[in-house]
Amino acid sequence: MTVAHVALAVPLDRTFDYLVPVTLSAVIGGRVVVPFGKRQAIGIITNITEQSNLPADQLKPILKVLDKQSLFSDKLWRLLHWSAQYYHYPLGEVLFHALPVLLRQGKPAEMTPLWQWQITPKGHLIDINNLHRAKKQQNALAILRQQPIYRHQLSEMALTDAILQALKKKGLVALSACLPEQPNWQQKYSVQTDRCKLTKEQATTVAVILSHLHEFRTFLLDGVTGSGKTEVYLNVLEHILSQGKQALVLVPEIGLTPQTIHRFRQRFNVPIDILHSGLNDSERLAVWLRCQQGHTAIVIGTRSALFTPFNDLGFIIVDEEHDTSYKQQTSWRYHARDMAIMRAHSENITILLGSATPSLETLNNALHGKYYHLRLTQRPGNISMAKHYLIDLKSQPLQAGLTPVMIKTIKKHLANNNQVILFLNRRGFSPTLLCHECGWIAECPRCERYYTLHQQQRCLRCHHCDSQRPIPYQCVKCGSTQLLPVGVGTEQLEQTLHDIFPETPITRIDRDTTNRKGALEQYLADIHLGGARILIGTQMLAKGHHFPNVTLVGLIDIDSALFSADFRAAEHFAQLYTQVAGRAGRASKAGEVLLQTHHPEHPLLRILMNKGYHEYALQDLSERQSAFLPPFTYHALFRAEDYKSEQAHAFLQHIRELFAEVEQEQSTLWVMGPVTALQAKISGRYRWQLLIQHPSRHYLQQLLQRLVEKITALPLAKKIKWSLDIDPIEN
Ligand code: ADP
Ligand code: ZN
Ligand code: ZN
Repeated sequence: MTVAHVALAVPLDRTFDYLVPVTLSAVIGGRVVVPFGKRQAIGIITNITEQSNLPADQLKPILKVLDKQSLFSDKLWRLLHWSAQYYHYPLGEVLFHALPVLLRQGKPAEMTPLWQWQITPKGHLIDINNLHRAKKQQNALAILRQQPIYRHQLSEMALTDAILQALKKKGLVALSACLPEQPNWQQKYSVQTDRCKLTKEQATTVAVILSHLHEFRTFLLDGVTGSGKTEVYLNVLEHILSQGKQALVLVPEIGLTPQTIHRFRQRFNVPIDILHSGLNDSERLAVWLRCQQGHTAIVIGTRSALFTPFNDLGFIIVDEEHDTSYKQQTSWRYHARDMAIMRAHSENITILLGSATPSLETLNNALHGKYYHLRLTQRPGNISMAKHYLIDLKSQPLQAGLTPVMIKTIKKHLANNNQVILFLNRRGFSPTLLCHECGWIAECPRCERYYTLHQQQRCLRCHHCDSQRPIPYQCVKCGSTQLLPVGVGTEQLEQTLHDIFPETPITRIDRDTTNRKGALEQYLADIHLGGARILIGTQMLAKGHHFPNVTLVGLIDIDSALFSADFRAAEHFAQLYTQVAGRAGRASKAGEVLLQTHHPEHPLLRILMNKGYHEYALQDLSERQSAFLPPFTYHALFRAEDYKSEQAHAFLQHIRELFAEVEQEQSTLWVMGPVTALQAKISGRYRWQLLIQHPSRHYLQQLLQRLVEKITALPLAKKIKWSLDIDPIEN
């Protein structure tokens, strides 16, 4: 008999055995339809053997074979198996996650027609000046006269559906479905000739990378903001493409701007596919197939673009490698940067990690020679870095968190016809309670760690020892009653700015305003055209955008980052600060950065202002080393949540006991908790966590390997919601 071992998209860490009828030819890595309980399910064959642990008469037959060939290359297949093991996540879910949605649903792995906008004969004939009242339509018509555009490529050209629908009503353009072409780009490959001359630093960097192509090696391109990292990418890609090889470029969730895409397209006359959130399922499948068959030269995309199959992958770039959006924060919690390095390893190719603010993990690897450390220390041309100033917030009169100096400086920059970014630091940092008169921050007396403010529960809580106390009425240090939760909202700030600058167009960019598909792209395009003069933003604005007219960056409210209970808060703040500051004065205009704080003397601010990110990073690394924290140790975090707090707690307590049983030697293995999560309660569920730490990644993995099965078998494991996060970045 022939038995297929089939992985299904179910949260169980096992495969299921089915008989392969003689009439069907099944392949490893291909999809099949199988009976599963009372329903049918789609599965992926992970192995074909002649035996099963089940008696033959209990085996059900495969109902249908969907693929004649594996959907995965050997290299990708191995990578996904490794990943399922490393992250302790069911193989079936991992394999399905790596496929486009249509394939998960059982649709055939073949190209389907895609919607494309085309010019009509009337659109060719009319005088384009007739559209002078509708500049955007005029622009769109001009583009379509050059070439048809697929619907999913509109946002790359800063066009929208609405603009084209308007043209369609006038009979100038039409929308029709057509099969994407399959170009042989290698033969037509060409590169723009009038590219800028590389600086000495850039040229050296490119030369070093090129001398190590076609073997596994990790480079860190550590270059200050605006130092021309993208230019280095393009120069290296030029060589990769000229050899007919493909490239994968990973970018942060929200870092992909039309200008960046434009730079790639302008430079290379090759098919480039962009995987962005606006694609529908057919468009995603089309990109997947085009790449697999080698018809695409470059894929640019976020986290999940990592799973794109390639015919002949030659190079991987991870831009802004420190960005936390590379870590998936639900279900399969993989880190796309780390997986990209593993992919480069399994493909035996070179990978380049770029950042102005490398993560401490990456920097540490570079300092120890595990990665090749390349540095760009200067901006090309005569562009200087912005000047930095601190404003002491203590006892200042505030308008939605703005000091008089900040307001005056904003006025000055607006009067010079420049743009201003105001930055609020929200997500990911724990809120604290602070005295506006003296800067005192509530602290747990037992642990000397800052309390986290839980406004809903009206209490302060220590995330180290889990003690809590009511919110105090007076400052312990100076007796003032002006105790503030740190943090104004973006909405409140926007409203106040409207009152102060009634004539000035203001744009707010945060999760709330950019929920709608394509909204962010619209805002960014508008900013570039100079429409918005004041931009209010959160983390999202810190990504690698290049706004030439932004000359002032104001950081309104950052104190919670200085006093967070999370040991990574300093790193994340230092990265944000350096990145946001890098938005000021990128073109020929001088930039200014103004930072408001109740703690101008804080050592983190001092070192960042006076010495910069690298000095800060070295210092933090040495502190982490003495505190036995990552990257010098490795973490695995168990999270549990339930409507009954005791249940979640008890589950983690059991896990703690399991670790104690197998590991008597408690000096290197640290098990911390259970403690409440930073957000102790979300939608009625109490959240607890248990942190496991060990100086050896390998040892920690072995330990988990031995215990995960036992943990899954705990009676409470089925009652509550729990997860295991390997290398967590948020506590
Ligand atoms: P980064 O990716 O490091 O932020 P970019 O590659 O976007 O930097 O470069 C910043 C700016 O400097 C861009 O406008 C780019 O065109 C310009 N630039 C980069 N390299 C050079 C160079 N060698 N000569 C002149 N201008 C350059
Ligand atoms: Zn005080
Ligand atoms: Zn405490």
